[in-house]
Amino acid sequence: MKRVGFVGWRGMVGSVLMDRMLAEGDFALGFEPAFFSTSQVGAPGPDVGHPTGTLRDASDVRALAEMDAVVSCQGGDYTNDLHPKLRASGWRGMWIDAASALRMKDTSVIILDPVNRALIERALARGARDFIGGNCTVSLMLMVLHGLFARGWVEWVSTMTYQAASGAGAKTMQELVAQMRAVVGAAGGLLDRDGATALELDRAVTASLAAPDFPRRELGVPLAASLIPWIDKAVDGGQSREEWKGYAETNKILGLEPPVPVDGICVRVGAMRCHSQGLTVKLTRDVPLADIEAAIRDANPWARVVPNTPEASRAELTPAAVSGTLAVPIGRLHKLKMGPEYLGAFTVGDQLLWGAAEPLRRMLRILLGAELGGGAP
Ligand code: NAP
Repeated sequence: MKRVGFVGWRGMVGSVLMDRMLAEGDFALGFEPAFFSTSQVGAPGPDVGHPTGTLRDASDVRALAEMDAVVSCQGGDYTNDLHPKLRASGWRGMWIDAASALRMKDTSVIILDPVNRALIERALARGARDFIGGNCTVSLMLMVLHGLFARGWVEWVSTMTYQAASGAGAKTMQELVAQMRAVVGAAGGLLDRDGATALELDRAVTASLAAPDFPRRELGVPLAASLIPWIDKAVDGGQSREEWKGYAETNKILGLEPPVPVDGICVRVGAMRCHSQGLTVKLTRDVPLADIEAAIRDANPWARVVPNTPEASRAELTPAAVSGTLAVPIGRLHKLKMGPEYLGAFTVGDQLLWGAAEPLRRMLRILLGAELGGGAP
């Protein structure tokens, strides 16, 4: 029986991974799960339908080395610390990881099997052992655009993102709601006062955002009633690291040579869960819109074309509509005024699913030799 260790299973990505594995019956696939923690060693493990024992120490290299595979959703610092020690101990198991730490290593494969299953299979055949989930916005963008990439229709992509708080982890989501509570606490009473104007409401909201006790330990600044036009640290050329990943990871996932330029500006917004992106795609030629829509639809069962109407866009193309589902809708599809080779589009996806947990879950199934089927849009 294979032994699979899980680290980081109670964080945002990890808990969504557990939910999905339970929903798809993955814990009944015949492997022996072991649960690790960096902070709660000895506490009871999660309920996955059969006994899991107590939590083991996630920093114990010997305990991890007993596993045939380790799935980590713990974060980059943990990966940078433990992965080299584990490999140095001679461990030859499979490492599946949500963190970006190992993504660009030559020995790693970025996994998004509906898009790059062939690349994953080639890597397995040549003995690859590190399988890393992609950046959330990149994975979601590729779920809807890879039909166009596959046909050689993409000259470049500009992506302007609207990324949810959940992309920064559990504590950031909690802080966003705490910020919302602070705003409501300061301004909500005005909603019930006859004659209170929108301007008074605005002043109360703005004052609460500037108050010294406004919750901002994680984010540093207000996200509720605002946005943050920078995600992650700065890299060369005026980009943020999140923006840098667009080019680097897209080309690695697709195995493109020469690479296709992908760039834009990544923005954190006050959505809880679901990253949205406004896309400009420079096509290699004037492809009719109907062919573009067909290529998107044919690419995988989860990419869904939303008609470019106000009603459909409002009903189907928002974080509120998409949250918690595996569907990745793309809409607002139309040719831009710049010319017939310029395609405009807007897409939304639950970044905790296809952007994080789902590719990991499916990679484990691939390694276990199980059918992939599960996961209705
Ligand atoms: P997270 O929610 O912050 O969880 C990471 C760890 O923090 C948990 O495993 C847990 O470890 C600890 N923790 C401390 N306080 C917690 C609390 N109140 N609730 C839950 N866990 C808490 O991080 P994440 O968003 O899942 O991200 C994990 C990795 O995946 C990161 O490398 C991230 O960059 C990557 N990733 C995230 C997303 C996303 O959308 N969030 C998408 C793609 C990739 P212990 O149980 O050991 O204490």
